[in-house]
Amino acid sequence: MSQAREEIVPGKVVQLNDFILRVTAPNPGMMTGPGTNTYIIGSDSLALIDPGPESAPHLSAMLDAVGERLKWILCTHTHLDHSPGASALRAETGAELLGFGAVPDDGRQDTGFAPDRTLRDGDVLDCGAFRLSAVHTPGHASNHLCYLLEGERWLFTGDHVMQGSTVVISPPDGDMIVYLKSLERLLDLDLAALAPGHGHVIEKPHDEVRKLIAHRLKRERKVLDAFGTKNPATLDDMLPLVYDDVPQRVHPVARRSLHAHLIKLQRNGRVTEESGTWCLRS
Ligand SMILES: [Zn+2]
Repeated sequence: MSQAREEIVPGKVVQLNDFILRVTAPNPGMMTGPGTNTYIIGSDSLALIDPGPESAPHLSAMLDAVGERLKWILCTHTHLDHSPGASALRAETGAELLGFGAVPDDGRQDTGFAPDRTLRDGDVLDCGAFRLSAVHTPGHASNHLCYLLEGERWLFTGDHVMQGSTVVISPPDGDMIVYLKSLERLLDLDLAALAPGHGHVIEKPHDEVRKLIAHRLKRERKVLDAFGTKNPATLDDMLPLVYDDVPQRVHPVARRSLHAHLIKLQRNGRVTEESGTWCLRS
């Protein structure tokens, strides 16, 4: 996987191994890193994971890479940088579209997402030469699925795990309690690599997942500590205290994850909330 560390360039097809290609959409940004990764799996009949946003150049990059061989399009979840590209790709190729299905719109959803077949936890897609099994991993999004390529033991993680940055958890569809449970679930799987929706392949899956869990718990500790400075406190009071280690331009996004941490602590009985003011219980 020596090529895995080359700079990620939108539209460039990268061969990750004999069986897996990656082509990245031209949507780099604060939330998307170098852009959304589309993975293409197989040799004769192909499955494609996460067609990305609606994008004419990305559609032609995907079509060039798959030729006539695309049979299945899978989406990890229905945020706007992952699934909207599916409609045009399905129309061009006739491939079957699969995913968990849409969830109530929170302003971040591809509301037009209509899979030909819905997948649930444990469902296996038999692609002849290979099999992909669906692993329900809610937390970032309630309809989030990771896909495990059996045999190779590669897990396509969408936005459950990103490389190079942590994932935003935006309530109400995003949920920190279930996110942590879904991370722990990955520790029970025998995995060789994580192929994230953004960034490079991660080669030590369990080490990375343990790091992510520790990072979230450390942030939760900072939330509790912030009440030592101000109690009760609003989200805006807490934001600069809890995220003093990240650039200010990231704060609007971090605010959503802060909210998710506070909801977790509230459900655990550690804090209370009244009209947007949070209070540590003594
Ligand atoms: Zn997402």
